[in-house]
Amino acid sequence: MPENSNKPEDLFSRHYILPEIGRNGQAILLRSHVAIVGVGAVGSRIAEFLIRTGVGRLTLIDFDRVEFSNLSRQTLYTWEEAEKNVPKVEAARRHLNEIIPTCQVFPINEKITSENISSLLKSADIIADGTDNIGTRYLINDYCRQARKPWVYAGVVATKASVFPVLPDGACLRCAFPEPPPKSALPVAADAGILAASTSIAGARASTLILRILLHDKPEQFWETWDIWAGTVSRLSIADLKKAGGNQKCPLCDN
Ligand SMILES: [Zn+2]
Repeated sequence: MPENSNKPEDLFSRHYILPEIGRNGQAILLRSHVAIVGVGAVGSRIAEFLIRTGVGRLTLIDFDRVEFSNLSRQTLYTWEEAEKNVPKVEAARRHLNEIIPTCQVFPINEKITSENISSLLKSADIIADGTDNIGTRYLINDYCRQARKPWVYAGVVATKASVFPVLPDGACLRCAFPEPPPKSALPVAADAGILAASTSIAGARASTLILRILLHDKPEQFWETWDIWAGTVSRLSIADLKKAGGNQKCPLCDN
């Protein structure tokens, strides 16, 4: 390709030469549909990475509005959107389609609940966790288990990012942690703070796991925790997590 080539057809040219994607993989991604629950710091990073990689359809689900306290790490949003307090899904859709207008983005300005989860997620191939809410993660886990859909957990606190891929024929979140831990046991960003770069590593790693699952390159199931400040990563297997939790049975999978 000549250096001065500048055509929309070149959009994914760097993926065609990447053995992990290639032309066939790109065609699969363009046909794929990912639902992202929560488009805060991590969800908006996942959305941007996925649209730039050419995932053809993204559904964004969030009922929050852009606020000034978001701008330190939520990279899709602007000062003006915080001033106008616009719905995040609307702002995200606009920015994502400014980057790549040929991919479809469906904004859903609603809270996900046990009543609407099936209608909101049923057409997606995979679900991305962009929430900061443990209850919603268990809701996604239980729905995905029953609907046999894969999903990817992503959470960030302070300088640490954790990700965990959940596959229909593998372990689920409840296999590792049968019940949601009490709120008081969980550090949250509002108390512990959050570094922008740790949300980028969560978004980068979670979106890569999503691409691998979409491309049928099944990732191994590890609970990964990256510390961007220390420059370390720990990987815990399901056996490690179950042992740490006293080897309780999963109430969904009977593992
Ligand atoms: Zn399970």
